[in-house]
Amino acid sequence: MSHGVECNGITRRRFLNFSLAAVGGVVALTPRWSAARDEKQGDSKPESSRSARQLTRWAFLSDTHIAGDPENNYRGSYPYRNLQKAFTQIASDLPEGLVVTGDIARLTGQMEDYENFQRLLVPLVGRRPIYLALGNHDNLVNFLDVFESPVGRRPAVKGKHIVTVDAGAVRFILLDSLFATNQTMGLLGKAQRTWLQQYLQTSDDKPVILFFHHSLRDEDGDLQDLPRLFDLIKPVTKVKAIVYGHSHEYEFSDFEGIHLINLPAVGYNFGNDQPIGWVEARLGREGGEFVLHAVGGNTDLDGRAKQLRWRS
Ligand SMILES: [Zn+2]
Repeated sequence: MSHGVECNGITRRRFLNFSLAAVGGVVALTPRWSAARDEKQGDSKPESSRSARQLTRWAFLSDTHIAGDPENNYRGSYPYRNLQKAFTQIASDLPEGLVVTGDIARLTGQMEDYENFQRLLVPLVGRRPIYLALGNHDNLVNFLDVFESPVGRRPAVKGKHIVTVDAGAVRFILLDSLFATNQTMGLLGKAQRTWLQQYLQTSDDKPVILFFHHSLRDEDGDLQDLPRLFDLIKPVTKVKAIVYGHSHEYEFSDFEGIHLINLPAVGYNFGNDQPIGWVEARLGREGGEFVLHAVGGNTDLDGRAKQLRWRS
């Protein structure tokens, strides 16, 4: 990603004093001193010695499903309270940054959904970068309106929201699997897959973790062009893992050595056996460790760590 713009001005929709940078429409709230660097920031310093070898610690969240009404609830869960709890936990021991893999909004990506999300972010904003991807319950236009539509910014892929992050030992690529708001299925689409292929050809050999919203099964509501994505990334050995949400189930699996990490939902679960919460990730050149922080649902696995080694 090239030319980025750091926007510090107040726009009509912004009521918080964010330091906000966006790449291709995906919003990143990036303090300049953060170890993680939004790659489009042209003034980035060379990679520091600490970043190459050491682990970088991140908070991964998904399916926050924040509504305009903080009391909105589903299956006995209150997404607003759950996210508040998760952000409080994260703020008490700050990681390098946060990634949220979509379904930020409750159902149809309303402005007030995003405004509430933004309200909940207050303990973290300006302290750590926060990278947001879109899910099937998000709305691109409203999302950009709340988190600021960058003036004059040309997205990497038209109508899609892509962000690349140099996270020290690893690189993140947030893709956009939103097909249509409030339609369950997901699609990256040819243009985005072509962009990804070209990006992977030109980036260095740093381990890459892909993030997007949709789940990876073979149902109508899953990512519809998953076989094409797998064809694309299978031979690119620096792609080590995919982190995604959508199913509201916490699960680890793999495809040809590529780790598939299905994040639990923050908002609510679909089954009582599933945790509600977020995942703390320690990532390095060789692999990662993933620790569940359950804020509700099945809390039996709270604190449980899972170690993964990257394919070579
Ligand atoms: Zn979803």
